[in-house]
Amino acid sequence: MKDFIQYIIRFLLGDEIPGELITAVGYTDDPRLYNKYSIVIYPSGFFDSSIYGKPASIPALPLKEIDKIPLLFGNSEEEMVNDTLVLHADIVASTFFLITRYEEMVKRSVRDEHGRFPGKESLPGRGRFIQRPLVEEYGLYLRNKLRQLGANLPKEKLRFRKIYLTHDVDVPFYCRTWKQVLREVVINKKSLVETVRLKTGNLTDDQYYIFPWIFEENEKIRKRTGKKRCKTICFFKAGGNTKQDKPSFRLTSCDMKSLFSLANTYGVETGLHSSYQAGMTPELIIKEKKHLETATGKKIRLNRHHFLSCREPEHLTFIQKAGIEHDFSLGYADIAGFRLGTCRAVRWINPATRNLTSLVLHPLTIMDCSLSEKKYMNLSYEEALAYCEKLISQTARFRGDLTLLWHNTSLQTGYLKQLYFDLLNRVTLQESSTPSKADE
Ligand SMILES: [Zn+2]
Repeated sequence: MKDFIQYIIRFLLGDEIPGELITAVGYTDDPRLYNKYSIVIYPSGFFDSSIYGKPASIPALPLKEIDKIPLLFGNSEEEMVNDTLVLHADIVASTFFLITRYEEMVKRSVRDEHGRFPGKESLPGRGRFIQRPLVEEYGLYLRNKLRQLGANLPKEKLRFRKIYLTHDVDVPFYCRTWKQVLREVVINKKSLVETVRLKTGNLTDDQYYIFPWIFEENEKIRKRTGKKRCKTICFFKAGGNTKQDKPSFRLTSCDMKSLFSLANTYGVETGLHSSYQAGMTPELIIKEKKHLETATGKKIRLNRHHFLSCREPEHLTFIQKAGIEHDFSLGYADIAGFRLGTCRAVRWINPATRNLTSLVLHPLTIMDCSLSEKKYMNLSYEEALAYCEKLISQTARFRGDLTLLWHNTSLQTGYLKQLYFDLLNRVTLQESSTPSKADE
């Protein structure tokens, strides 16, 4: 079996499965090999060179189902061939399609005004199952088949594997540079004296500099859930010249040094917020990463794209070349949900080459502005809370990683501030609830 197929079977079965059971599952249409396995997943032909990469390989809606789970490839047929259970549901190809962003590679011309593939145009978006981590459901389906054959598998635990409270620092300060003073006086018609006082006064009086408070609130959750499992990460911009990259700020300013030092005090991890420009020209990521490393004195291993503008699936190659080991960009801006079909960290398989790489993709569960912005989901507070609760409970159900992205600028007032607290409370409640009977 090819590396990436072995990896997908391993990923579907989950980390807690004994090694001998992993080799009990095969992926072949050769009946002479069936007796090597307890379960064979029968390939649907998705990987054949005559169809792979072509528009005809994208499944048509409505999809077939297995146990009420939408199935991208194959069908629900099952047969026993001697002692081997042959499943015609091609959950390997279905998983590959979702975790690699294969669809985005095939549909190059489907992009929004920022060059991003819109979530609402994706198969999970159009099929209305983006709130379901299908890959986890396939995993459960496969484990249950092994159980039916008598395998003794551990029960799934209803608990988050990891919780990442993340903040993209697009605009760290409201009025701490002369450019910002000029904006306040000329455009916003504020008093010069008052504005200069803001610029030269205490950093903690700046309305966007609410990091002491954010880190303190996150710390409360970290203490309740365990500091190893729950992390705060700040992603800092370190370059970019497009209008979407404005305002630019000096990473070496006294104010930024104060922010870095505060982040250190709280054990906040630092990641690169690669620029909008780097989303278009991914070669720039290396330079931006070096710039951030020089300013912080730290080795940078984490990345998230500004505007989540990781445009083409193959652009992840540049992230890897830059020495990034973990990417946190993979959610859709226009709709919250499971862009990769999974809620667990997954190794990147390049859909163009089918190479299994060491780059780890961390699915982004919820970004603040996806919920509230008119052009995205345009939800009321109540609708947003109900929507997020579903994503959170799905993530806990499958022992996934919950990644929240809240900007310091949206934690000022209004419903996004309230929602952040309410979601942190839900996370704590979920942690203390009794285990579910997911597998019964
Ligand atoms: Zn950003």
